[in-house]
Amino acid sequence: MSKTKTILVTGGAGFIGSHLCKRLLDSGNKVICLDNLFTGSKKNIQHLLKKKNFKFFQHDIIEPFFIKEKIDQIYNLACPASPIHYQVNAIRTIKANTIGVINVLGFAKQHQARILQASTSEVYGDPMEHPQKESYRGNVSTIGPRACYDEGKRVAETLLFDYHRKWGLEIKVARIFNTYGPRMAKNDGRVVSNFIVQALSGRPLTIYGNGSQTRSFCYVVDMVDGLIKLMESSSSFTGPVNLGNPGEFTIKELAEKIIKLTGSKSKVVYERLPEDDPKQRRPNIVLAKRVLKWEPKIKLEEGIEKTIEYFNLSFPRKRESRKQICF
Ligand code: UDP
Repeated sequence: MSKTKTILVTGGAGFIGSHLCKRLLDSGNKVICLDNLFTGSKKNIQHLLKKKNFKFFQHDIIEPFFIKEKIDQIYNLACPASPIHYQVNAIRTIKANTIGVINVLGFAKQHQARILQASTSEVYGDPMEHPQKESYRGNVSTIGPRACYDEGKRVAETLLFDYHRKWGLEIKVARIFNTYGPRMAKNDGRVVSNFIVQALSGRPLTIYGNGSQTRSFCYVVDMVDGLIKLMESSSSFTGPVNLGNPGEFTIKELAEKIIKLTGSKSKVVYERLPEDDPKQRRPNIVLAKRVLKWEPKIKLEEGIEKTIEYFNLSFPRKRESRKQICF
């Protein structure tokens, strides 16, 4: 990165946000992190709090906010992203993606800051086109339990483009596909963290449905790299652009991989498939490759191994107590 910038990261204490804050600081930028700590955690940014170029404010973007310092760039990542968390208070999720996004856009306009919106593969819903290209308009239920997030993120994209058309705001829209890695919350509820936590504690892995549904998993370091490349891309490039790993796996395959890589004796159990659960998902990343010169580098096995290591180090007690029982 050429010159020091002052960068606001909303949702910066979350899983992806905390990795992003670290990378931006390491490149010599000043980072201001805003987070309401609903799913984010101060633990995620503990190592950054003492750095002189890092500031943290506990704040929910649903409420307006002001920062005196001139902000150059904004990454808006503020929204619970795992199905169980965004459904806890669906109306609040919609508020984050409407009122919250309007607040962040108003702030961006005041500061004449470039803004990157963390959108999602969920805008494609249960896709009829496979793999999904950015031109695909999606198959989303407006009334189902996932709609608060899916439709919320869709309207957030609309808001960015309207601010771009009306006020000339510099915008970037990233459609983020399933991402995993260290600092996922243990209780996040998403498939990678659930399976690893279950495998490490010897409990059965909970496959929802028959496990034939597919997902494509991107390691968080690759994702952060893609987000920064998008932010730094030419001002004429707005996206939306897919960011994700095109490797596609069934959930059953993922369970088998995690059992093997943890060396666990866990079995699998089959549970009810949640309503509107997409049957398949894989990004077409031709656009990201061409414009951003980006593609993920970390293979699933390698990323899963690093994530297992993180969960092992962060939550060792269960394993220790199992060892004690053995002795
Ligand atoms: N899933 C599962 N077991 C779990 C958690 C999730 O089988 O313990 C399935 C879920 O039904 C979905 C896929 O794994 O088909 C990915 O779920 P996740 O919540 O990670 O993200 P999504 O892509 O659905 O937003």
